[in-house]
Amino acid sequence: MTAWNDLLQLLQELADIQAAISLLDWDQQTKMPPKGAGARAYQLATLQGIAHERLTNSALRTALETAEREGNGPLPFTGGLATGLLRETRRAVERAVKLPTVFVKELAGASSRAFESWHRARAASQFSLFQGDLARLVDLKRREAAYIGYVATPYDALLDEYEPGQTTAATAAVLVRIRQPAVDLLTAIRQSGREPNRGILTQHFPTDQQWKFGLDVLQAMGFDFESGRQDTSPHPFTTSFSPADVRITTRVYENELPVALFGTIHEGGHALYEQGLAPELTRTPLASSPSLGMHESQSRLWENVVGRSAPFWHHWYPRLTAAFPAQLGNVSEEDFLLAINHVRPSFIRVEADEVTYNLHIILRFELEVALIEGALEANDLPDAWNQKMAELLGIVPERDADGVLQDVHWSYGSFGYFPTYTLGTLYSAQIAAALRRIFPDCEERIARGDLLFIREWLRERIHRHGATYQAEELLRRVTGEPLNPQYFLDYVQQKYALLYGL
Ligand code: MG
Repeated sequence: MTAWNDLLQLLQELADIQAAISLLDWDQQTKMPPKGAGARAYQLATLQGIAHERLTNSALRTALETAEREGNGPLPFTGGLATGLLRETRRAVERAVKLPTVFVKELAGASSRAFESWHRARAASQFSLFQGDLARLVDLKRREAAYIGYVATPYDALLDEYEPGQTTAATAAVLVRIRQPAVDLLTAIRQSGREPNRGILTQHFPTDQQWKFGLDVLQAMGFDFESGRQDTSPHPFTTSFSPADVRITTRVYENELPVALFGTIHEGGHALYEQGLAPELTRTPLASSPSLGMHESQSRLWENVVGRSAPFWHHWYPRLTAAFPAQLGNVSEEDFLLAINHVRPSFIRVEADEVTYNLHIILRFELEVALIEGALEANDLPDAWNQKMAELLGIVPERDADGVLQDVHWSYGSFGYFPTYTLGTLYSAQIAAALRRIFPDCEERIARGDLLFIREWLRERIHRHGATYQAEELLRRVTGEPLNPQYFLDYVQQKYALLYGL
């Protein structure tokens, strides 16, 4: 049992260092004055160096190997929790030791240069300013995949970082299932002749009322303000230092109501996950979601399946009109609902609706796989991008800033990240279907303003387990079957048939 105690202590200290890194990062994105950036970069690099050293040193590896031989640890780390903890620790250690320190430094340097040049390239809408740094990053990511190892394709090794257990082939098979139905549904919606009045949402909505309304919704969702807070930042995100200290951010645009409203609900969904982790998992590798997709399933379930639904607004629309009587007093609930579910082909992924969003992801996934496998080179990206936009969405951006340069992910070297957004969406629809089976009166309850039963069910079935089970197994335990994209197709087809009178 000594090995287990050693292991737990080392993991707890590592978790503390990682929490400190997250706190410095949260501060940088919310409160830090601009001139603090220089010193902050050193602080973060030092702590990251310490964390990496502790993850790869012999003390942790020895304790891990001995604990693996022993099997069970001290309570509660027996049975499934012991298996999960050893699996997650082994996974983190393996990934870290397989990458030589000099390679990690080279990748970090290349990413920070690429991030800078991406910023300049996007501002000037000139891909050539980014192309060289991107090509170098793609090359480094191919090398990373070789270090990590893979069976079928180097992309597997990169995808596995964000969605453990998921393969490129399985992801491609799932995306193919939703590709044509999404294109067909988009066509049917465009031919329906129903045109939402989006002008409803772009009136002037004062920040204070928007902020207050968002807090009311968070409260109703069951967000615990004693264990979390909301601040503003240019890019909304959720971070957590323990289940009892979870931070979310949002941004408020006075002329674009949905940004803060749905941003808050989205991050609130992420936050409920973090607040719902079982306390005994705190300071261990189990105190997190098993994958980015599973985390995203919670934000999307709240934002889209709940937050953009008719029952939700049956309760909340009178409250919204009370907050904004001059802007919404004469707007019907039906017109508002249609406006927040406006489906149309658009250039920008983060502004896309539920129907077209996955087409943006399919585009990125196909390009990423081709880049990493060497079938496509960085200098061919803008053309390949525009060709796929025409194919999938029927539109072509005039500027690279609205096309291939729009996302930050590739400049960070985050290849394999995009598919987790769609996997999360598909998980969310499958989980919501299970919720409806358990609570047949689900919609009536939401229409009465009751959201807490959703949080309780999600907490019990998903949140509290952290990373004890991998995503696929967790999904099977919650819904009774492996990932099945049909739930998403049924959900969007039913929802939008009703909204657009198809
Ligand atoms: Mg998210």
